[in-house]
Amino acid sequence: MDSTVEPAPHLTGRCNCGAVQYEITAPLVSAGYCHCKRCQRRSGAGATANAVAQHGSVHILEGASALVAWDPGDGTFLKEFCGVCGSHLFARNPRDPFDRKVRLGPLDGDPGVRPARHSFAAYAPAWEPIAENGLPRFDERPPA
Ligand SMILES: [Zn+2]
Ligand SMILES: [Zn+2]
Repeated sequence: MDSTVEPAPHLTGRCNCGAVQYEITAPLVSAGYCHCKRCQRRSGAGATANAVAQHGSVHILEGASALVAWDPGDGTFLKEFCGVCGSHLFARNPRDPFDRKVRLGPLDGDPGVRPARHSFAAYAPAWEPIAENGLPRFDERPPA
């Protein structure tokens, strides 16, 4: 093996029941926390941690038929979760199936990125105010 070649980045993840298994074959681009009410409902938590994946880098290895997509109907990304156990795994561009965000929680190893912003900070619940951690906060969606 040529020691000057970086090993291919290879992240894996799965849902709680194991029906859906996937890999990510390129480094994640960036990550952030989302405090929007939609994330609170889908996760049951005060915020979620999500990363932007490179185009086409998310590959479903098992259980593509178990993956359910909820379309909020307002043009935002589809929320993809396991239809068997309910684990939330991805968000997918309704106009481009290869454009996905990934939820950090279900990943097996170190995702290689760290959440670097708080989005929809205005909606953080009373029971979990955003911790003072020096990261930028945006009351609504951050500017692209
Ligand atoms: Zn599952
Ligand atoms: Zn959200």
